Amino acid sequence: MSDKFDVIVIGGGPAGYHAAIRAAQLGLKIAVIDAFVGKDGKAALGGTCLNVGCIPSKALLDSSKQFYNIAHNLPTHGITVENAKVDMATFIGRKDKIVKQFTGGVDQLFKVNKITSFFGTGKLLKGNQVEITGNDGSKQTLAATNVILASGSVPIELPFAKFDGKNIIDNAGALDIDKVPKTLGVIGAGVIGLELGSVWNRLGAKVTILEALPDFIGTADADIAKVAQREFKKQGLDIKLGAKLGKAEIKKDGVHLTYTDKDGEQSLVVEKLLVAVGRRAYTAGLLADDTGVKLDERGRIVVDEHCHTGVDGVWAVGDAVRGPMLAHKGFEEGMAVAEWIAGKAGHVNYDTIPWVIYTEPEIAWAGKTEQQLKDEGVPYKVGSFPFAAIGRAVAMNEAIGQVKMIAHAETDRILGVHMVGPGVSELIAECVVAMEFKGSAEDMARIIHAHPTLSEAVHEAALSVDKRAIHKGN
Ligand code: FAD
Ligand code: NAD
Repeated sequence: MSDKFDVIVIGGGPAGYHAAIRAAQLGLKIAVIDAFVGKDGKAALGGTCLNVGCIPSKALLDSSKQFYNIAHNLPTHGITVENAKVDMATFIGRKDKIVKQFTGGVDQLFKVNKITSFFGTGKLLKGNQVEITGNDGSKQTLAATNVILASGSVPIELPFAKFDGKNIIDNAGALDIDKVPKTLGVIGAGVIGLELGSVWNRLGAKVTILEALPDFIGTADADIAKVAQREFKKQGLDIKLGAKLGKAEIKKDGVHLTYTDKDGEQSLVVEKLLVAVGRRAYTAGLLADDTGVKLDERGRIVVDEHCHTGVDGVWAVGDAVRGPMLAHKGFEEGMAVAEWIAGKAGHVNYDTIPWVIYTEPEIAWAGKTEQQLKDEGVPYKVGSFPFAAIGRAVAMNEAIGQVKMIAHAETDRILGVHMVGPGVSELIAECVVAMEFKGSAEDMARIIHAHPTLSEAVHEAALSVDKRAIHKGN
């Protein structure tokens, strides 16, 4: 057995690398074990988020938005571009370069923070030892006072539409299509389906999304989802709700889908099929039988409110545990656990985790939806403001959507803010700050917002809670 570490982190994704860096900052001796292999066959830190998730998807969303705007936005500004084309090698290559820059960045940060990095699969053994199996089958065992499990998640596979990496693809496949398909089918109108469906739709693919549930983005506030659904339809995304896939057969001319909706059995043939029906915690080979760490009915590692597994010195964070599968949720848990291990006061407020869907328009929210408050019987009041009345949004030719703020009817405390529109991925941040400080709609209404900015929509929505928005009738 080699050196003993203060902390071993299994998994070098957002949750794991934040835990490692924060623990190193606090003077602890850290090892990180990660098994991810990039598409170049080399080890890469950063997990799903940096390699095949948040960052590459945003790179392609931005590139495809530039292309889409040439035909759909620039003419309104009096600018026309003839024969715009996408060079796919550059399109995908730019994304790959960004991924490399950021995964290499984590590597550098580990060096700066004197974190020892191991490439291979980590398995927790009894007594806080970790066995590492390298790609060549070689084994070594490390010991630590604390182990943080941050093994993340993988896409859920449908038994009747198994991934083959070419015709039926997951998120990684949808980030690496080398030629725009004529048709793309997507199973699941969730975050991945909408973001990656948008990318290929903007480049000219005919995208059809089949969603099993009858409601569109059921987790979002209904008013916001309604606007988004209307806008996506205008962009050409064909979203079929209440559509249950029964069969997906790969044939010479594409993937043949059979699904049922309210009108009975339907069929559809698509060149490629992206299956994006959610992700599941990944714990294969992570735990020896006698560690005492438990999994719940969905295969997630069981933890308490401090991300502790109940086994002395064993913690778990990120997508592998309960809560939303978001990178920033993992960041906060990772840093909090590092602080708890070091005897400091870690903190994660699960009530103010922001959600963002990076479509056009963007969708963002934090806190409770109106439906949730109704169900919980909480008295509330609502203010809203449309981007159509925001000078900056109109000047940008992006005057779509609204900000909706919900406050407690008696205390005026902000309970939720829901947005669809331009730049709302950034606007949600000030609402999260207000909510974290237990701010009221009046607090927000009294804060000076620069003119002309998109943030005025937040200000006006706050004024509107008290029926005193200036630029609309209340
Ligand atoms: P992961 O990022 O999954 O990392 C886990 C790491 O552990 C991996 O490298 C894995 O190989 C490694 N590992 C697993 N088991 C072992 C083992 N036994 N030994 C060694 N290593 C192991 N979230 C957002 O907040 N914003 C977004 O915009 C966003 N976009 C996304 C887009 C897509 C297409 C996808 C798929 C996800 C997106 N997410 C986004 C979700 C985000 O990627 C995840 O929430 C986040 O990566 C979870 O972090 P994690 O560290 O828990 O796990
Ligand atoms: P998701 O949970 O967002 O959406 C999955 C959708 O598929 C749901 O609407 C669900 O009803 C539907 N579905 C499930 N089974 C189905 C079936 N058999 N047929 C048709 N529809 C079905 O999951 P996702 O889009 O795969 O993304 C996974 C996770 O990754 C998300 O939970 C999210 O946390 C994270 N993510 C976040 C971002 C972001 O923050 N912008 C972006 C991408 C992914």
